[in-house]
This record gives sequence, structure tokens and C-alpha cells, in this order.
Amino acid sequence: MTPDEFRRHGHALIDWIADYVATVGDGPVSAAVAPGEIRALLPEHPPATPEPFEAVLADLDRVVVPGLTHWQHPSFFAYFPCNSSFPSVLGELASAGLGVNGMLWATSPAATELETLMLDWMQELLGLPERFRSTGPGGGVIQGTASEATLCALLAARERVTSGATNRAGVTGGLVVYTTAHAHSSVEKGCRIAGIGSDHLRHVDVDDTYAMRADALAAAIAADRAAGLTPMAVVASVGTTSSMAVDPVPAIAEVCEREGVWLHVDAAMAGIAALCPELRWVNAGLERADSFCTNPHKWMGVNFDCDLFWVADRGALIAALSILPEYLRTAQTGSVIDYRDWQLPLGRRFRALKLWFTLRADGVATPQAMIRRHLALTDELVGWVEAEPRFELAAPPRLNLVCLRHVDGDAATDAVIERANATREALFTRTVLDGRSVLRVCIGGAQTERHHVEAAWKLLTSV
Ligand code: PLP
Repeated sequence: MTPDEFRRHGHALIDWIADYVATVGDGPVSAAVAPGEIRALLPEHPPATPEPFEAVLADLDRVVVPGLTHWQHPSFFAYFPCNSSFPSVLGELASAGLGVNGMLWATSPAATELETLMLDWMQELLGLPERFRSTGPGGGVIQGTASEATLCALLAARERVTSGATNRAGVTGGLVVYTTAHAHSSVEKGCRIAGIGSDHLRHVDVDDTYAMRADALAAAIAADRAAGLTPMAVVASVGTTSSMAVDPVPAIAEVCEREGVWLHVDAAMAGIAALCPELRWVNAGLERADSFCTNPHKWMGVNFDCDLFWVADRGALIAALSILPEYLRTAQTGSVIDYRDWQLPLGRRFRALKLWFTLRADGVATPQAMIRRHLALTDELVGWVEAEPRFELAAPPRLNLVCLRHVDGDAATDAVIERANATREALFTRTVLDGRSVLRVCIGGAQTERHHVEAAWKLLTSV
């Protein structure tokens, strides 16, 4: 493709994206395809000769779009949202166009310095503790996902508790991690990868809001110490995936401080709420956390992937992840941030651009207004659920998530979810709380307005 052809096709693709986003709400939210159906629409073998780009673009419409779950659809109420925005798409495009690998400061100083600044900007915009600013011993980095952030936190915790011995075989055997059964599955995955083992991940008891009980945490730690084990880390959730439960971070932090245990706070979804000053309760206790993560790719409009991960002291993280072969040594090694030492892979994309573009072109007022609109819509939906005798709330509603169930029991709840999703007019996901089926309604789409929520409620009460 020549530069002139790129210019022409690029303009066509931008038009295509603008049209897709403008009209995504007009069609179904999910795909009606059977496994293998999409592949069957495509040639089994790669093309022998280059094809016109128009043919490639045409296949986006013919093959790809019909096989999509439309995460940007205003009636997408499933999982947690994964919002995109035009400035972030342009930032992504600029990143691809520049094609740099910011693994070291020296391999693109602007990539590193812009990223460090963006994490400091976000520390400010979210009202996070000063200890996470890069100007002190702490600092932040963009990870692909919250799962990677949690794994990195566990690796840093492992480094700290073993006083740097994690490069030796056999040191992880007695280490224990604490979370709740409601924490995201990435915590268990991280424990497996970090060599802790699923059987050394303790599910601490929760209260009737599905939040960790700090007294139960203290008891579990004491029991493990008495058994000769080494408590290593607590992963607290601010906004669990199932029910948006919020662990009591201040009380948990007190236990962690007393016990010398690393505290990581996973606020993948809920943490972004702190863009609104009146919602900064989500930050409670963070001034004593060792690490924290939240995802602009969920509730802020910075397209996937963009997780922000902060540590209060970067020393353990870097010690855990830095290996310096001669081919990566530069004149600045040790005196600058080399983000390869803050993450799992070596290579890294220039993700800061999409955050920077979004913050500058849309401003913080745009996600603030969106979040406030979602919360008002959630309040309305809660009122409708409370007034409907066939449904009941299954968990205290928090932020933009409503958990409900049919009063006739699990089979009725499951049937509502299945029938509503089968219409493809809206999409919901199911979870289980206290052993009972729950329908989750997460109101988080950038284009979701009152009439979409109204239609969704009408659907749920009519199927
Ligand atoms: N933590 C929580 C609380 C989540 O809700 C999720 C995803 O929904 C994750 C972690 C994992 O997010 P990611 O896809 O960024 O790994």
C-alpha cells in the first residue's frame, strides 16, 4: 500500500468507523451465529495475491459485523462496559502509525515520559493519594488489563515478602494470598502463575453485602501464621464483578499494615467513578494500599486495552521483574523509568496516546457526565425493580450495577435472561450469589440513554 493509497483507504475506514458508531444502536446487540459459521464465510487458505482494500473493507460488513457482540451498543448491559471514544480511537491509530516500541526510555523517550505524566494526571483526576505519583518512590504504568496488574502486584508482594529470594526455586511453597470468593477470577489465575497455588488462595468470609470481613481476614492470617505459613498479600476488591461489592479497604489496610502484608486494591470498574469528586468514597483507604488498579477501558471511554496500575513503592515491582541483559543496557539504565521492568512482556505499545488524546479532546467533563447519567438511570431502574412484585433485588445496588432475581426462583431468573438475550434487543449476564441465580444489569454504555433502560426493563418484564 502506498502512502497515497493509505490516505484514501484510511479516510474510508474512518468514515466506516464513524458510521458504525452512529448506527450501532439500530441493529441487534449480539450475533446470531453458530460456532464455525464466521470461519466458513472465509477462504480456508490465505490469498495468493494481494486484494483490493475495498474488498477487505467490504468483508468487515459481510463477515465481521454480523459475527460481533456490539459492546458499544446502547442496550449492552452485560459484564462491565468496555467503552471506546473517537479521540481514543484516533490515539490508537496514531500509536499504530508511529509503530514505536516503548520498552525502554531510550527506545522512545516520549512514550515513557508521556505515559508517566498520564499516570500522574490520572492520579490527580481520580484524587488518588500522593504516594502513587511518579515524583516520589511510587508511580504508575499502563498495563493491558487489570489481570496483568494484579499479577504484577502479586509478583511484587512475593519479592518483598521473600526479601528478594523469588529468583530461587522453592521459595513460594508457604506463601498465602487472601481475597474473597467474589474477587475477580484473575486473582486466582495470578496466584497460579506466581507459584502461590490455588490452594494457598484463601477466600475470606464476607458480610451480607458480599464484602470482606476484616476480622475474618485477621483470623485467617493468624491461623496461617500458626500453621507455619507466610501471609503474602491481600487482594481487596472495590466493585466486585458479580455484585459491585466494596471490601472495607481502610479496615483491611490496618490488618495488612500490622501484619506486614502487601495490599493490592482491584477497582477495575469502580475506580473510574472517582473522576466525579462526589464518588471519591471509592478511594477510601488507598493511602495505605501498596498497589491499586483501575480500567479507563471500562468506564471512561479509552478503548481496550488500558489499565492503570500504581504502586506506592516501585522498588519491589522493579526488583521482581527486572532482568538486564547487555543488549538492553543503555546509558540511562537505572536513572530513568524503563517500563519493561514494570510489566510482564518486554515490548510495549504506546498506549498513553489514547489516554492523552481522550483527556485533551473530550476532557474529563465527558466521562463525568456519562458516569452521573448512568448513576441516575441506575437509581430509576432500582425504583422500577422495587415496584415490580415479580422481581427482587439480589444485592444492594451500587454505582451502575443492579442485581435482581425472579421471585419464583432460579429457573425463572435463568429463563428471563435466556429469553431476553434471545431477542438480541439487549444483552444481560448472569451470576450466582448465595447459590442463587442473579440477573446483572450494568448501565455503562456511552450511548445508553433513559429510553434504552426503559426498553430493557420492559423486555425483562415481558419475556
Ligand atoms: N477485576 C474486576 C473487579 C473486574 O470486574 C474485571 C473484569 O470485569 C477484572 C478485574 C479483569 O479485567 P481485565 O479484563 O482488565 O483483566
